[in-house]
Amino acid sequence: MINTFFRLLKLLKKRSGILYILGFFGFIIVGTYRQVFLALVLKNVFDTVVIGSIEKLIVCVLKSLGIIALLSFIQSSLMYLMRRMVVHIIGDLRKDIFLKIENLPIKYFKNRHSGNLISRMTNDIKVVERALSNTIFYLVYLSICAVAVTVFMFFLDFWLAVIALVTGVIAIIFNAILAKPLRVISKKIQERLGDLTGILSDLLAGITVIKVFNLYKNMASKFANINRQVYHDSLKKVKTTAILDSLNVLGKMLDTIGVVGVGSYFVFKGKVSIGTIIAIWQLKNPILNFFNRLSNLIAEIQIALAGAERIFEVMDESEEPKKYQHLEVKIIPNLDKAIIFENVDFGYLPNQWVLKNLSFEVKKGKKVALVGASGEGKSTIFKLLMGFYPPDKGTIIVDGLSLASTELSEIRKKIAYVPQNAYLFNGTIMENIRYGKVDATEEEIIRAAKIANAHDFITSFENGYHTLVGERGAQLSGGQRQRIAIARAVLKDAPILLLDEATSALDAESEYLVQEALDRLAEGRTTLIIAHRLSTIKNVDEILVIDGGYVKERGTHEELMAIEQGIYRTLYKQQYKVLRDVKVS
Ligand code: ADP
Ligand code: MG
Repeated sequence: MINTFFRLLKLLKKRSGILYILGFFGFIIVGTYRQVFLALVLKNVFDTVVIGSIEKLIVCVLKSLGIIALLSFIQSSLMYLMRRMVVHIIGDLRKDIFLKIENLPIKYFKNRHSGNLISRMTNDIKVVERALSNTIFYLVYLSICAVAVTVFMFFLDFWLAVIALVTGVIAIIFNAILAKPLRVISKKIQERLGDLTGILSDLLAGITVIKVFNLYKNMASKFANINRQVYHDSLKKVKTTAILDSLNVLGKMLDTIGVVGVGSYFVFKGKVSIGTIIAIWQLKNPILNFFNRLSNLIAEIQIALAGAERIFEVMDESEEPKKYQHLEVKIIPNLDKAIIFENVDFGYLPNQWVLKNLSFEVKKGKKVALVGASGEGKSTIFKLLMGFYPPDKGTIIVDGLSLASTELSEIRKKIAYVPQNAYLFNGTIMENIRYGKVDATEEEIIRAAKIANAHDFITSFENGYHTLVGERGAQLSGGQRQRIAIARAVLKDAPILLLDEATSALDAESEYLVQEALDRLAEGRTTLIIAHRLSTIKNVDEILVIDGGYVKERGTHEELMAIEQGIYRTLYKQQYKVLRDVKVS
């Protein structure tokens, strides 16, 4: 916790933290002085009234007003100075986290829920911002102010100060005890409201299920139950608040009567002036304020520190390296090979191999299919090719570049990748295609869309290429999304193409259009295909059957079908049988 706190303060160093510190302590000094000054003014004014000199009174009031106005102005400027720095610091922090997240390795994202990172970017930053611009500041300000004011109070009159403090503290304790039941109820209501939100979001997200299964009554009675509890608790809260308010007023009265009552007696005895009573009464405010807010401030700082800790946790994650320097560089003659795997071992977890001693090669311009049961590591091979994970052992070469000696960004330039559900970003169709090549002209984009069988459906939209996709935009079918992704890959124009079940999620008609687009995209490129439906890869140059972490069978469709008890033959027959059964029934 303490470390986090100092690290939080260190953020100030990046921007000129000196301005923050100037604003911070400047405000504290001026603010404390203003409190004391205000009390002195009140004392003077009332003492002057008692003497009965009207001219003196006017001069005193005007002068004091001027000085207080000036102090307030200086105070606000210092506060501005401080908060301005915080805005800069938080802006920097937000940028740093974004860059950090962009550069984290894929592994990091696989093990976490994305909501978690998003909450770090939003909520946690917000509480840290609040801590820097408010909480830490007020904690220091209010404590210094309270101490200074107390000292000054004793300086004005010892016994009156003692009475003011004692009655003040009693009032605060009174208040704290009374506030507890209220807090308990409020918390309960808050939790129940959370439950209500949960049911509501279930209702919205699951409306089709609710309709189909006729769950109206269930949901409604669940909702009504909790709602009734909220209703009862809220009534209880209103009642408690009313009682507490009246008791609170009593507490405050006690407090006032203490100072004013005893003070008047002192005045009567000629020990203090009326002005002194008023001054002490005024000085009590910052002290009470401090005690009243102390527990909240401390709780807020704890929340902020926890938030800061989560942010720093992300900042401390190690980034994806520029290249996998730790791998052993091995020279392999690769005159006409686009892809080489040699004796590759890989597992996501230590000692749990997904790929074991895997070796294969793909010649330039050839089409090779990877086949195997689900979970055998086909997609993993793609991830290794794209450098998302380093292999534990062995050599990987992509278009003549060794993964061990080339920057990952260079390797990735060589590869176009179309997964099962390609992601489209928020923005227009045009922008989404352009991500394949950021400086592409409009003509290039349209040409790519034509190759990808996407041009026709895009132009059929009212806004054509400027139609928005993603959450805020048009509802595209799976096949249309795939074709936009293919256009993106066309534009990238990489020598190696990786297709990971790119048509598996599509219906027959869009599958045809997407398949045609993929065939065009694959022309003249080295292509590795992972296909769910074996009928789509009959014509590839070679089929590799992955089983148990390495290549178990290899050959053309005909060659593999000729192997009795072969894995490929079995898989193929299974699919064929399913197809035939479907047709018969
Ligand atoms: P395929 O594409 O052949 O169906 P994958 O390459 O996706 O198989 O997965 C191979 C194995 O690795 C599976 O057992 C899977 O559960 C596991 N696996 C895949 N991704 C991860 C990951 N990020 N972390 C841990 N295990 C994983
Ligand atoms: Mg897969």
